[in-house]
Amino acid sequence: MNAVKPMVLVTGGAGYIGSHTLIALAEANYDFIVYDNLCNSSKESLNRVEKIIGKSIKFQEGDIRDADCLERLFTTYNIDSVIHFAGLKAVGESVEKPIEYFDNNVNGTLVLLSVMKKYNCKQIVFSSSATVYGDPATTPIKEDFPLSATNPYGRSKLFIEEILRDVFVSDNEFKIVLLRYFNPVGSHSSGTIGEDPNGIPNNLMPFIAQTAVGKRECLSVFGGDYDTKDGTGVRDYIHVVDLALGHVKALDYFTSETSISPDETRVPFPKTNPLTVNLGTGNGYSVLDMLKAFERASEKKVAYKIVPRRAGDIAKCFADPSYAKKMLDWEAKKSIDEMCEDSWRWQENNPDGYQNPT
Ligand code: NAD
Ligand code: UDP
Repeated sequence: MNAVKPMVLVTGGAGYIGSHTLIALAEANYDFIVYDNLCNSSKESLNRVEKIIGKSIKFQEGDIRDADCLERLFTTYNIDSVIHFAGLKAVGESVEKPIEYFDNNVNGTLVLLSVMKKYNCKQIVFSSSATVYGDPATTPIKEDFPLSATNPYGRSKLFIEEILRDVFVSDNEFKIVLLRYFNPVGSHSSGTIGEDPNGIPNNLMPFIAQTAVGKRECLSVFGGDYDTKDGTGVRDYIHVVDLALGHVKALDYFTSETSISPDETRVPFPKTNPLTVNLGTGNGYSVLDMLKAFERASEKKVAYKIVPRRAGDIAKCFADPSYAKKMLDWEAKKSIDEMCEDSWRWQENNPDGYQNPT
């Protein structure tokens, strides 16, 4: 057995947010191993991260529902914390395949947690989502707003949050951070890694990018009659590199001796546990704001038409990010222009995503 120094297990680390987080971990001198079944990603993303960070990445292909495979990792490496990205994330698909979604996301997390507990690994950062706020009564959204879900994907996030809260109640040696992401967009500034959705993108930013590069004809803007400044839906878009740094801050929170008080001074333990924070910018931008910003960044015209609202969409969703600043000393720094410029660099250099590596 080759026991090495303590490290972070990154489930789903070959995916969009995971691959960007690996760079942030490497820059912060965290050692890590990636565990991914590659059901929605490609090994090529890891090859490219290796080029960016200038060192090789430990990778094990496997499913989070495969306890034996996970156990082999825990016996080989001294894993002291987990960042848990692995999961299925397509809202529409989750409505068609709820059993697969609950099995993958909820059951997968339970298997992971039981292996973690068996090997006495009790620190986990979980990828939750702003979707757990359902249709909020007001904005900006604070962490103590009521929780609800309108589709199986959102419910899987809500269930996992509840499970993690119960795990802490049962064993308060667990240290748990629930990160509720708003709308991650953008790419690493190298333009070599980015979001690579299968088929027709469901999300706004990859759809705009593929329209700008000529892969799609026209963006359908879902609804022009919302109660927003221009009638189109408003969201809190956050650069994936800022989001990635939030995960490093969450790991730092596990190990720091003190936490940060509301007036920014350091206070002694106990810290809040589980810690639940929004990762957003606090700014709401409309679909048309994003479209115009992308046109500026790409110097391309993006054709669009207003079509009826998409079922299940809400008018406005943006974070109050002040708790993340207070508890993790984290805040988003990048503007929507940088989000669009970086997305465009990735899209222009990789029109087929990771499929045809150059
Ligand atoms: P992604 O699909 O690019 O990455 C998820 C990774 O998990 C993929 O590499 C996939 O192959 C892997 N995976 C899925 N099921 C697995 C399993 N059973 N075993 C092992 N690996 C598995 O998605 P992403 O955008 O990087 O999202 C990462 C996490 O953040 C997900 O949990 C997602 O639900 C959550 N999240 C994403 C967004 C977003 O808009 N991208 C917003 C909020 C929350
Ligand atoms: N949207 C759109 N056309 C698209 C995809 C999305 O008009 O092809 C809108 C959508 O209605 C919402 C915003 O863009 O107002 C962000 O949608 P996305 O699916 O990216 O994120 P989410 O709805 O999960 O916040």
